[in-house]
Amino acid sequence: MKEDILHFVWRTKKFDLHKLETSTGEPIEILSFGQHNHDQGPDFSNARVKINETLWAGHVEMHIKSSDWYRHRHDTDLAYENVILHVVWEDDQPVMRKDGTMIPCLVLKQRVPHQLTYNYQYLQASETWIPCEKVIHNVDPLTVSSWLSRLAVERFVQKALTFQSLMKETAQHVEESFYRALMSAFGLPQNKQPFEQLAAALPLSLIDKYSHDRTMLEALLFGQSGLLNSKVAQDPYAQELWQQYQYLMHKHSLQPLPMSLWKFGRMRPPSFPTVRLAQFAAIVADQPRLFAIISEMDSIDEIKKLLKKPVSPYWQKHYRFGDQGKGDTSTLGAATADIICINTILPFLFFYGKQRRIDTLTDKALSMLEELKPENNSSIKNWKKSGITAKNAMESQALLQLKKTYCDQKKCLQCSIGAKIIQQKNLP
Ligand code: SF4
Repeated sequence: MKEDILHFVWRTKKFDLHKLETSTGEPIEILSFGQHNHDQGPDFSNARVKINETLWAGHVEMHIKSSDWYRHRHDTDLAYENVILHVVWEDDQPVMRKDGTMIPCLVLKQRVPHQLTYNYQYLQASETWIPCEKVIHNVDPLTVSSWLSRLAVERFVQKALTFQSLMKETAQHVEESFYRALMSAFGLPQNKQPFEQLAAALPLSLIDKYSHDRTMLEALLFGQSGLLNSKVAQDPYAQELWQQYQYLMHKHSLQPLPMSLWKFGRMRPPSFPTVRLAQFAAIVADQPRLFAIISEMDSIDEIKKLLKKPVSPYWQKHYRFGDQGKGDTSTLGAATADIICINTILPFLFFYGKQRRIDTLTDKALSMLEELKPENNSSIKNWKKSGITAKNAMESQALLQLKKTYCDQKKCLQCSIGAKIIQQKNLP
């Protein structure tokens, strides 16, 4: 038994409220249950209770055993001075204030329905892929879909933290932050870090300066990445880029990244960082300030079209400098474009909309996410086996959030699905 069951029954009022009384027999009337506090300090704040005709306003603290008050050292913490009611599962020790008076205690053990505690223990003890795997099919689809909509927003809000740090690093420069976020997305999964280092070592202002000239732009990107050097520059195009980069390096005092940062192993050639960089160059050519353009777009197809601009002729036939490519790498693959939209472009749009309080942008980001196909990774496949099939990317993102943030930590009582399951009859 953990304290979260007490928080749940208090928050949802799922306990016997008839003739409440303190452990010493004084009548209690709850006028307001207060607000759940998820930070430091007492569990519920701004509660109001009447005890023996005296009205009290303040905090409510909860513990499995009343002696936990001392075990958690609340007796020495000023934040707990204004606790007006101690709600416990079991009262094993009176709790006193500094002035020697007793903190009124309400014991819930006999007031919570047996079915509820049984279901709670069932979920806590379950060792299946998700604790509710065998019973989730009983939950009505409306509860599931509205919970998933909330989780998709929660996931976007969490991703916004990364963008906030980028904004801090770039002195609140939106385009520079978006450029860095997009570069990072092009490196996923194996080359995320070198792409991020490249973006940090190659400011957008330089990309801007040479974006009208594809050769100069590629010289800048490949040269600065360290993927281009005198050894790999064997064919005429690579040699031309190398010469251009020598000029740019001296002119702008550039220092290339070490080539050893880049990973080519265990990946298909179309995912090689050289190919991804050529695709990135195609996208920023002539339009380096992408965020302003994307935020004006009205459909996800327009964004995907922008991501699938053809690479320069050399990269249509090569995977690396000197190699002859055989597959089609002329544009970013459809699945990769979707992943970049799902993980970076739409969350950034949402983040910017929130930051500037532009609801049309946040709504647009969410509705575009709904237009994309769901991801097809192992987690989404497992959800399907459990009976929950994501209809679109918004739901697949929500399911990833649910698994990682709630199911894996057994936070079933904070989950709308769990809140339904815990009240079900006849769990196995
Ligand atoms: S957190 Fe929700 S979905 Fe996950 S196992 Fe618990 S009840 Fe099920």
